[in-house]
Amino acid sequence: MTDWFDKGCKSCRNGVLSGQSTPAKVATNVQEHVHLLRCSTCGSWWLETEREAHVIDDAEARSTFPDFFG
Ligand SMILES: [Zn+2]
Repeated sequence: MTDWFDKGCKSCRNGVLSGQSTPAKVATNVQEHVHLLRCSTCGSWWLETEREAHVIDDAEARSTFPDFFG
């Protein structure tokens, strides 16, 4: 597990915490009810579930959202 402050950047962490200016939503996995967000500042992928959001790496983003990555 990485420390919270190692995840993404200050911009997207604050956005996720506040729930107001979250990173842009770029894809949805309907079966798993999760969304893929991408920070325009640092380029981190975020996995948004019904309860929370956390940073995922490139491999996890690709395996969870294969349609988006084609
Ligand atoms: Zn960021």
